[in-house]
Amino acid sequence: MALSPVNDWIARANDDPVLRNLQQCREQLWINPERATFERVKQQLPLSYADIEDAAARLERFATYFSVAFPETAARGGIIESELVRVDRGAKLIAEFQHSDVPDNLLIKCDSHLPISGSIKARGGIYEVLLYAEQLALEHGLLNAGDDYSCFASEPFRQLFAQHSIAVGSTGNLGLSIGIISAQLGFRVTVHMSADAREWKKALLRSEGVNVVEHQSDYSVAVAQGRQEALNTPGCHFIDDEDSTSLFLGYSVAALRLKQQLAAQNIPVDAEHPLIVYLPCGVGGGPGGIAFGLKQLFGDAVHCFFAEPTHSPCMLLGMHSGLHNGISVQDIGLDNLTCADGLAVGRASAFIGKIMEPLLDGIYTLSDERMYALVTLLTDSEKLAVEPSATAGLPGFAWLMSADQETLQALGLTSTLHNATHIAWATGGNMVPVEEMAKYYALGAEALKQFK
Ligand SMILES: *Cc1c(COP(=O)(O)O)cnc(C)c1O
Repeated sequence: MALSPVNDWIARANDDPVLRNLQQCREQLWINPERATFERVKQQLPLSYADIEDAAARLERFATYFSVAFPETAARGGIIESELVRVDRGAKLIAEFQHSDVPDNLLIKCDSHLPISGSIKARGGIYEVLLYAEQLALEHGLLNAGDDYSCFASEPFRQLFAQHSIAVGSTGNLGLSIGIISAQLGFRVTVHMSADAREWKKALLRSEGVNVVEHQSDYSVAVAQGRQEALNTPGCHFIDDEDSTSLFLGYSVAALRLKQQLAAQNIPVDAEHPLIVYLPCGVGGGPGGIAFGLKQLFGDAVHCFFAEPTHSPCMLLGMHSGLHNGISVQDIGLDNLTCADGLAVGRASAFIGKIMEPLLDGIYTLSDERMYALVTLLTDSEKLAVEPSATAGLPGFAWLMSADQETLQALGLTSTLHNATHIAWATGGNMVPVEEMAKYYALGAEALKQFK
């Protein structure tokens, strides 16, 4: 009998320690054997630096619109951006918790506090809606080159968008970002929510006039059903989180912004001073887009790691098996149940893993208990409140600082790790209601006792 590719791989990987760790939900660091020097792969990538610049220019064109439609963005001139903060106290507390040396330079990129939707989804999700809105406006002769984009807040634009609809499938945060911006522009918008989506997110969207459809299934099914319904609806644009180049490019612009922030803080990034970035990963678009942008800017001087829950390690499984979106965490017996909003994804994106193959340094996994504990540690040390998923980047430095010589050599970090700047990308939290956040904090305080 012919085996399916999935069963064939599982059978061949029988005594593979990586697979065993995955199946037993044991935390691990996986080093990507396909990583290559950037010069060698640059020409073969399907997207380029020019694509990132194009996306960045589009966001700049929309800045005048944001200043008007979302006054909280006016302070930054209508640019949706977050702080990059040094966390010396946090570094000490987290290092102690992780039984690690204290890193000299730990920073947090606070996408948890991005304006409009309080998560990393305010980058990619909003970008794709803007791209679609701009195309429609051009097609209908409402927009000319050089126009001031605050016109997107005017009645003729709203009337045009009211004749079009947008749909998306989401575990919550993407739905929030797409729902808020689409409703503000005047689109009819439907968000297909997976079973794990929080009540408060659904309620908030409904209060904005968004049509929320609840599914009794996980993220992949919510996306599939949303895709199907959108296909059956004329004039409906489906935002496909599992396979969207424009989402990816929206995220990638973060790299240009980060480069400016690093320069402003006099933080060097070069062969002697590596930048190591730890990105929480769900379906892969957010962390993939950012990593792609960072590699374009910094080449081999930047090292990117993804972080995934032990119950939803879809990217690690897809890249390690080489099957990418051809395998799901359920295929190896996992339940895909995690407290980490945005990371409860059982099957990786159709194309991110492929793009990441030569670019990514590795992926590590972490338990829900560790994420809760880190919520509490980060609040105590830095007064920074983030949701559990957004802490996933925090223990990354400890994996490297306790790595063996062989691993460091493979990564080219043997003699430079002590000079590194570590950035944990905090991906969500600012919209979480205070009483929900208090629950996370209490769960974290409990979890901390168990780690003692
Ligand atoms: C969506 C999300 C991520 C990961 O983004 P993907 O594109 O799904 O990989 C990480 N953290 C939070 C809080 C998210 O909402």
